[in-house]
Amino acid sequence: MFERGFKTWCEKYAVDARSELNLKSSDPLDPRKLAANLKIRVWTPDQVPGLSAESLQILLRNDGKSPSCWSAVTLVVGTRIVVVLNSSHSKGRQSSDLMHELSHRIRGHETHDMEASPAGIMLLSAYDKKQEEEADWLSGCLLLPREALVWIKGNHIDPNEAAQIFGVSKRMLDYRMAMTGVNRQYA
Ligand SMILES: [Zn+2]
Repeated sequence: MFERGFKTWCEKYAVDARSELNLKSSDPLDPRKLAANLKIRVWTPDQVPGLSAESLQILLRNDGKSPSCWSAVTLVVGTRIVVVLNSSHSKGRQSSDLMHELSHRIRGHETHDMEASPAGIMLLSAYDKKQEEEADWLSGCLLLPREALVWIKGNHIDPNEAAQIFGVSKRMLDYRMAMTGVNRQYA
């Protein structure tokens, strides 16, 4: 379903992103540090300038999501790219939502129907299915690259503890272990 070489590219990107931050290939990667390195700001909804909570909700409703269950959105504010995270969600959820939004930017996904709000803020949304699949795969890979999975298995780290260390859900860990074949390798 992905372009040839996409998964390999993701693994390499996950390793390169770590080395730029002086991390080992198997180290956890904090999405906020990656965002800072990519010069992408991370805001809570109340930090969006010139935008009332009400307007933000309208903006978010245009995204096809109900305001109470939205996760993260990417905004263009002047020349800056800002990811707004729903701060009412758990830390783990915010991490994976942020990594997902960063992945769209890393892949240079373009969006359609961009419209500036009266405050001059543009919302990047309405990605197509292929772009969503790419962002999902890349974000999982950034959080848990193959070398991290091998490190977890090789050191017999308890899965729940490993999920904590890498700031991901147990479900995400299980998914990555299965999809990369690391599970089979250590079975
Ligand atoms: Zn997305």
